[in-house]
Amino acid sequence: MTERHDVLIVGAGFAGMYAIYRFRNQGLDVLALEAGSDVGGTWYWNRYPGARCDVPSLEYSYGFSEALEQQWDWPEVFSAQPEILAYANHVADRFDLRRDIRFNTRVTSLDYLEDESLWRMHTDTGERHEAPFCVMATGCLSVPNMPDLPGADTFTGRVLHTGRWPKQPVDLSASRVGIIGTGSSGVQAIPELARQSEHLTVFQRSPVYTVPANRKRMRAEVQQEFRDNYRKIRDMQQHSPGGFSGFRPFRGEQSKAGNDPETATLSAVPAAEPVGPGAESVGILDLTPEQRRALVAQQGLGVLLSFRDAYVDPEANEAANETFRDGIRMLVEDPQTAERLCPRDYGIGCKRQVLDRDYYDTFNRDDVTLVDVRETPIETITPRGIRTSSGEHELDVLIYATGFDAMTGALLKTNITGAGGRRLTDKWEHGPVTFLGLALSGFPNLFTVTGPGSPSVLCNMIVAIEQHVNWIGDCIDYVRGHGYQAIEALPEAEDEWVAHVNEVAEGTMYTAPSCNSWYLGANIPGKPRIFMPYVGGYPRYRERCEQVAANDYEGFSFR
Ligand code: FAD
Ligand code: NAP
Repeated sequence: MTERHDVLIVGAGFAGMYAIYRFRNQGLDVLALEAGSDVGGTWYWNRYPGARCDVPSLEYSYGFSEALEQQWDWPEVFSAQPEILAYANHVADRFDLRRDIRFNTRVTSLDYLEDESLWRMHTDTGERHEAPFCVMATGCLSVPNMPDLPGADTFTGRVLHTGRWPKQPVDLSASRVGIIGTGSSGVQAIPELARQSEHLTVFQRSPVYTVPANRKRMRAEVQQEFRDNYRKIRDMQQHSPGGFSGFRPFRGEQSKAGNDPETATLSAVPAAEPVGPGAESVGILDLTPEQRRALVAQQGLGVLLSFRDAYVDPEANEAANETFRDGIRMLVEDPQTAERLCPRDYGIGCKRQVLDRDYYDTFNRDDVTLVDVRETPIETITPRGIRTSSGEHELDVLIYATGFDAMTGALLKTNITGAGGRRLTDKWEHGPVTFLGLALSGFPNLFTVTGPGSPSVLCNMIVAIEQHVNWIGDCIDYVRGHGYQAIEALPEAEDEWVAHVNEVAEGTMYTAPSCNSWYLGANIPGKPRIFMPYVGGYPRYRERCEQVAANDYEGFSFR
């Protein structure tokens, strides 16, 4: 039997959850489908030890409900995963979202029926649904990357992925644990795993530039100050390149991001204002190497992220990188380990900034071993562990912290076929092409939340999600209100937008030839090398979306 709705939503993370609330309030009949057994998306799946947000929770939280803002207490400034998941559950309960969600249900295909202007959906539970509109809230980081390592299925111990961590507690106390991957997830997990396990072996391919996270308990006065100023704060987010207000409690003014002891974040880097010595006008090249090192000794490695020239000028970038390496040498006792932890073949600003707690200190422990898999490559996974060119490392548990098929993975895996039988996999054969990261020519009435070509992962994502869902909701109202059956992005609008996305990314460290990040798809073998998110800043992007809507959806055609 086929169920019929107004809007189908795929995914019940923060995007899908807000979409249910928003569209329902517009009077639409919605149904959301979610592969997991409950809400929360990222925060449902990523339960690994140490998982945590790097945007202050008072900012990484919904802004659509004043009552919610006033009543939810955040115990820490930067929340850990269990707290964020508890928040997601509270939102689901409070707004009765679950009644419109089918859990444990994966959408296996979506086909556009042109004659009827309907999307038809099939699920792995055998359900069939149809609706004129479909919203892909499938997440940018929701498809774990499992590298294809020889012998992987022969390992007889336990295998885990940080992005699919079990719900039941994992007891590692008597285990020799191996972890592959030192991105954000690995760097957060490694210090915790070292504390929890008998022995930890870290298999590192690329060292990272990681800086200490700002972690503290939430003070009641700070939370109250936010509550008293929330409308202003939400407005400040709308005007910040990273969707982050930088509100300074007790001063009621905009801070230099990262400069405020209560709510500092590094997530806005490099869009953040510089916070180095003497602030705005000082570039790293204005300081001598001794001055740079003294600054790091005094303020920590994080200060090196504050020099704006380091994000655009290769010489300044290398000066920051070298000072960073000196910092690592100061923190890690064994000189050989310190050298292995020093990134050399890419610069600060190429990848998503990583934040840690006790990362470098962890390598001073006797029960932690670092294996550089570039020096001694992994030859095979064996039944007992991992064999590299220097010998076998015996393990009881093997953890993959190997990231995600980011931004396009979940969309492509959903088997979407648009008008004229055109498949999304074909349309995106050479990389993602969208209009505003929201819509696709050839795929009428299909919308993507935080899709490639939007600020998305370069932004405080809840801000980006709310903006997208609001825009989509308004667009659906417009289409229905004008008696149209379908809206579709024009190919020329799409081409123009893609050219703009590429143009603004060019010349930044994100697209430097030495850079191989998941933003570029470089972590997945065979994926086209395209810089996927929009780097031009959230306000500029938002204004463009608003302009499109105000001009009767210029760049779109109607049927
Ligand atoms: P998700 O939360 O990924 O939800 C998508 C959902 O869609 C998933 O539950 C998935 O199961 C479901 N789904 C996908 N395909 C299908 C299908 N075919 N059928 C059915 N269901 C499907 N962002 C920040 O701004 N700040 C941070 O500090 C931050 N930290 C992060 C930490 C980690 C470990 C990770 C992985 C990401 C982090 N992010 C952070 C990004 C985070 O993904 C977003 O902030 C946000 O949670 C995304 O919400 P979403 O609803 O768009 O996607
Ligand atoms: P990631 O940044 O892609 O890191 C994956 C790691 O696995 C890298 O070190 C990578 O090495 C390594 N790797 C991949 N394949 C490998 C292989 N075949 N052999 C050896 N090593 C391999 O993934 P992530 O750490 O999960 O983070 C992804 C994103 O999620 C982050 O950038 C961030 O946006 C978000 N996140 C945020 C937080 C937070 O602090 N709020 C925490 C976790 C995740 P190479 O670098 O050499 O490819």
